[in-house]
Amino acid sequence: MNLILLGAPGSGKGTLAQLLSSELGVPHISPGDILREEVKKDSRLGKMAAPFMEKGELVPDVVMIKLMEQRMDEPDCEHGFILDGFPRTIPQAQQLDQFLSRSNKRIDFAVKFEVSEKCALKRLGGRRICSRCGADFNLYTKPPRKENVCDLCGGKLFQRKDDNEEVIYNRLKVYGEQTLPIEEYYNHQGKLLRINTENSPDMVLKEILEVLEA
Ligand code: AMP
Repeated sequence: MNLILLGAPGSGKGTLAQLLSSELGVPHISPGDILREEVKKDSRLGKMAAPFMEKGELVPDVVMIKLMEQRMDEPDCEHGFILDGFPRTIPQAQQLDQFLSRSNKRIDFAVKFEVSEKCALKRLGGRRICSRCGADFNLYTKPPRKENVCDLCGGKLFQRKDDNEEVIYNRLKVYGEQTLPIEEYYNHQGKLLRINTENSPDMVLKEILEVLEA
């Protein structure tokens, strides 16, 4: 199954993408994670993307499209994938359709994660990540047992650079202006499914699986 997860920053796409990936047996592809890895390596791509990411702006389409086409060409995507954070603009959505159609593939569904701004702000502002194993915590909803220490591996927790208040507001603004229009793109194709994602991840997972199987 080829799925797209749509939704504002903080709508829970990343958490659900991981759960769906193990449930459906297809890879979870997050361009944000790929870019953060490149920034960490200080590669050419990382150097180019970092200033956009730090401000909460989108990395240019031409770069993102090439990066994602290369990723989706890898063998693990042969039987499907879950895209978490791509496409984020109309040109990205159009190019994705063209790219897939060249190998007789298509997007099956675009699942829209609906969440109030209040809930999104709480999720983003409270998010902490383990620097060693990558586990996710949240100071409000899933705090670590010991402050700043990962429950799973004892690694140090950190806050993403773009999870500070000013950048969070810009990311939400950018989402409204550039990404929201692609909902209509998939609605028009009859592929848009809307899910309320304010419940626990397990409940949201159950709801998505029910909708996909219906
Ligand atoms: P995320 O982890 O999905 O919140 O993405 C973090 C940052 O990576 C975004 O704020 C953008 O700067 C960049 N990014 C991720 N996906 C895309 C995309 N599809 N198009 C452009 N920029 C992206």
